[in-house]
Amino acid sequence: MAHVIGEKCVGERYAQCILVCPVEAIHPGTYKGEPFMTIDPDVCIACGACKPSCPLDSIYEDESLAGEWAAINKDLAPS
Ligand code: SF4
Repeated sequence: MAHVIGEKCVGERYAQCILVCPVEAIHPGTYKGEPFMTIDPDVCIACGACKPSCPLDSIYEDESLAGEWAAINKDLAPS
């Protein structure tokens, strides 16, 4: 299951997750006009490296735990 970035990331710019992802699945973007990182579910290999890198604990390890944010990540992903 792909990891998912949740609402605590909205408006933040830490971006540590991008630096640790081994497959470049995480992309900077915007959500409702605010900065927001998104994970491309078609690229994520669920390695788990990004989750401890987030200072806000805003990364869900399973789409089923992420509610609406799973669809939001997918919609915002570039691929
Ligand atoms: Fe990248 Fe791994 Fe996080 Fe998926 S779980 S977004 S592959 S660091």
